[in-house]
Amino acid sequence: MKIACVGGGPASLYFSILMKRMSPSEDITVYERDPVGSTYGWGVTYSDRLLGNLYSADQESACAIAESSASWNRWDHHREDVAMTTRPGHAGYGISRRRLLSILAQRARVLGVRIQYEREITDEGELAEADLIVAGDGVNSALRNRHADHFGTQVTAGRNVYLWLGTTRVFEFFTFAFKETVHGWIWCYGYPYDPRHSTCVVECSPETWKGLGFDRGTEADTLARLEKIFAGMLDGHPLMGRGDGEGGAHWLNFRMVDNRTWYRDNVVLIGDAAHTTHYSIGAGTGLALGDAATLVNALLEDPRLPSALAAYEKEAKAALRTARLAGRRSARWYENIRRYTGLPPEQMFKLHRARYSLLLPYVPPRLYYWAGRVNEKSLARATGWVSGKVARARETFTPQ
Ligand SMILES: Cc1cc2nc3c(=O)[nH]c(=O)nc-3n(C[C@H](O)[C@H](O)[C@H](O)COP(=O)(O)OP(=O)(O)OC[C@H]3O[C@@H](n4cnc5c(N)ncnc54)[C@H](O)[C@@H]3O)c2cc1C
Repeated sequence: MKIACVGGGPASLYFSILMKRMSPSEDITVYERDPVGSTYGWGVTYSDRLLGNLYSADQESACAIAESSASWNRWDHHREDVAMTTRPGHAGYGISRRRLLSILAQRARVLGVRIQYEREITDEGELAEADLIVAGDGVNSALRNRHADHFGTQVTAGRNVYLWLGTTRVFEFFTFAFKETVHGWIWCYGYPYDPRHSTCVVECSPETWKGLGFDRGTEADTLARLEKIFAGMLDGHPLMGRGDGEGGAHWLNFRMVDNRTWYRDNVVLIGDAAHTTHYSIGAGTGLALGDAATLVNALLEDPRLPSALAAYEKEAKAALRTARLAGRRSARWYENIRRYTGLPPEQMFKLHRARYSLLLPYVPPRLYYWAGRVNEKSLARATGWVSGKVARARETFTPQ
């Protein structure tokens, strides 16, 4: 079979690795529009559960990923001078996005996959010879957008704005900092991804963003202001943006992508092209890799393309459900942060850790907190019972 993968992100590259590994005779080419080594984003997090799955799927790339990752087993919350630590009993990992892509591309090449960089594909007609076209071209997928009616694409923008940054401050643990300004709350979370860098994601409401003047000025101005606001967390280290500092900072609204169906003829969507989950649960890359594995299994199990793609869509959608719910609830917690900022810091931190709960948005926060203190296990069980999802969510993704 001749397979064309559009996009050189984690979804496409991992698909090409697993497919070539299981079926070496396939002729696979990955087309990436950007030059080699140029990617957006800093480090991404993943869970120990995902690492276990990667080892089962392809030991070579899993070993390289593990060796290039930073890890932590503690989550720290800060609000002004108050701090709280939690140890949920599982490890978290961070890896540079650039390093991850380089590991996957190298492994794909060793297995015989061709990778063409600086080759943009916006129309499947350019790949007329391919038997299968895997559209792993990300959140703005051109292949999906051309047939948005067929795919039933829905894109919903989140209310808050965020900025994905790096820093030379190497956090020891996953660290959250909440800050109150005269224009409202702004918060940041950071985690290490190599021995010299960490990721920082900053978020606030549009009102705070405008009030603090982030809608104007250069990226350098923005970084300088953020370094002041989060001085305690950064401990004198600079923040790093995407550009040269002269243009504006790359503030964005999260876009939630949904598709009614994930394939059309021989074109199939995977990763962010098919779905997105809110960045605050740190699951998008893992889900993209999971889609790749599910698609490979479906193709190997059924030689008829239409039914194999239908099976893939069904299974991958089911695997996604719980993470999506968690992502929606997490985004909602941050969009309604004022519901929680009136609480003493320790209570707010606890309810931040509980942000995947179905009940939390409907129960007065103080009552939720005290009920949880009286019997945390029963409350968690009740929440799981009512939603019917929480227990299963823990099976498929590990909350940050
Ligand atoms: C702020 C933020 C923080 C995040 N943090 C995490 C995290 O901690 N953990 C986590 O698991 N996930 C995280 N994510 C999500 C994660 O980045 C994505 O879910 C993941 O990268 C999806 O992989 P993908 O391969 O589907 O798409 P992408 O990684 O977007 O790759 C798509 C590739 O396709 C290429 N491309 C696009 N169009 C074309 C075209 N027409 N022709 C050829 N090539 C094309 C692009 O250049 C790109 O290389 C975060 C996202 C954001 C926004």
